[in-house]
Amino acid sequence: MWQTVAADDAPIAIAIHGGAGTITRDNMSPEREAQFEAALTHATEVGYKILQAGGSSLDAAIAAVQSMERDALFNAGVGAVYTFDGGHELDASIMRGDTLDAGAVAGVRTIESPIQLARDVMERSRHVMLSGEGAAEFARELGYAEVDNDHFNSEHRYQQLQEALERLQQSSTTGDQIALVDWDPAFNMGTVGAVALDRDGNLVAATSTGGMTAKQYGRIGDSPIIGAGTWADNQSCAVSATGHGEYFIRYHVAADICARVKYQGQSIEEAGDAVIHDVLVAAGGTGGVIIIDAQGNIHMPFNTEGMYRASQSSSSPLDVKIYRDEE
Ligand code: ASP
Repeated sequence: MWQTVAADDAPIAIAIHGGAGTITRDNMSPEREAQFEAALTHATEVGYKILQAGGSSLDAAIAAVQSMERDALFNAGVGAVYTFDGGHELDASIMRGDTLDAGAVAGVRTIESPIQLARDVMERSRHVMLSGEGAAEFARELGYAEVDNDHFNSEHRYQQLQEALERLQQSSTTGDQIALVDWDPAFNMGTVGAVALDRDGNLVAATSTGGMTAKQYGRIGDSPIIGAGTWADNQSCAVSATGHGEYFIRYHVAADICARVKYQGQSIEEAGDAVIHDVLVAAGGTGGVIIIDAQGNIHMPFNTEGMYRASQSSSSPLDVKIYRDEE
């Protein structure tokens, strides 16, 4: 593969998200707001420093996501939500825009950093996606130290499970199907993701999540699905999504945004807004995305009350936002 010679003034950029949902000033204490702002700032800076030092978008995106996987504020890594039966099943994926290589893991129960394992699936296996016990077996072969599933237990997420189970109980006694319609977006809030552009002009997208509270039957969301929750192509853009996964899968949200950019010549603003505000809203899907293009432009549309998000680039300083009225 030919290598481009990186110019020192070539643009670099990173954007991250920590989930979208019913996030309003009314339901946020000043302390919690400050915690999120600090965590988002840290994750962005960790990634941006790597890019500034000439590092790859791959390393930058992984470092930003890992910083949030280690923080119980987010629904990823240690903050992962609970499944229906009181366990945790984590999903993650990564894609690079130069080679279109991708790696993903779904339903992993013992891996501290699912995004690292997704990277290893991409770089060290013959496959794109590994799930459940097979993914754990692959991790063991690579020498990963596993953790017990209760490593991901937390009081706050346990309370959310109880509320979700109560809601499901009510909907089953009224004969409704599982509350897909009036499901509280708070139950699956906090997925994390990063998109980055390095000095070589390479885009990467990465996403990691605990999925949806009270999910059943080995449910897999959009986050580990290449094209739904994660997509990167140097010829268009890189996208990481957060929201109601069932919709993001069916509307292949991340790939659709990049396809509009690639084949219709749309800007990332036009493409992102059309998919998030028109297509998804009409379908009833809630959530948002972070998008970056090969020039370092960043756009972060969402159709919920808020989305934890932050960005930094060679042409724009660190910017951390939470609410809709900050758009
Ligand atoms: N998209 C994730 C899922 O459906 C959850 C989220 O992003 O809030 O698993």
